[in-house]
Amino acid sequence: MSEQGILVVVSGFSGAGKGTLIKAMLERHHNYALSVSATTRAPREGEADGREYFFVTREKFEEMIREGQLIEHARYVDNYYGTPRQYVFQQMADGKDVILEIEIQGALKIKEKFPDALLLFVMPPSADELKRRLVGRGTETLEVIDQRLHRAAQEAEGMTSYDYILINDKVETCVEAMHQLIQAQHRRVSSNLDFIEQMKSELKAI
Ligand code: 5GP
Repeated sequence: MSEQGILVVVSGFSGAGKGTLIKAMLERHHNYALSVSATTRAPREGEADGREYFFVTREKFEEMIREGQLIEHARYVDNYYGTPRQYVFQQMADGKDVILEIEIQGALKIKEKFPDALLLFVMPPSADELKRRLVGRGTETLEVIDQRLHRAAQEAEGMTSYDYILINDKVETCVEAMHQLIQAQHRRVSSNLDFIEQMKSELKAI
């Protein structure tokens, strides 16, 4: 079967618990790599440059776009976010599955460019729970929380473009569901066309 890693897009409403889920996923399973995005938004308390994001100026971000350094980029609540190309391709070539934690516009661009990418959408158990988590996190002003909830309503419209949804109720259960889906994606016929061709020519040669 194909040794090449695949792209796994994880989207979900702000506050759905994507970050916690992905962190648990990386701790538990070791064949995954997390892409670190570039963004023009300011770091939150506790965030470090090069770990959560590469925090860059708008000028730098625009330069990255011009030079083709980003696989995709999008605007989200007044800031730019984008996926640097080099790390992602390197990890995939090394056989790692690369997780992109990105919003919906970026997700759709990835699916267009890489049809074998797996698109997962993380949902909270309910809208009330989503608001509770956003307020409880305490990292955004009420105004920004409102904008993010508004954006969640818009994003819900695009959810049907995703391959699977994950309900993030219990982290452990959700991590295992995610792992199983990624492993299943590796076994899709469309992800293994080279292997199938090889098998066909080997069979002919016998
Ligand atoms: P936050 O400001 O909460 O860290 O991220 C805001 C949104 O931007 C989240 O939905 C996150 O998934 C998304 N995001 C983070 N990095 C990227 C990226 O490289 N590309 C795109 N399209 N979205 C991103």
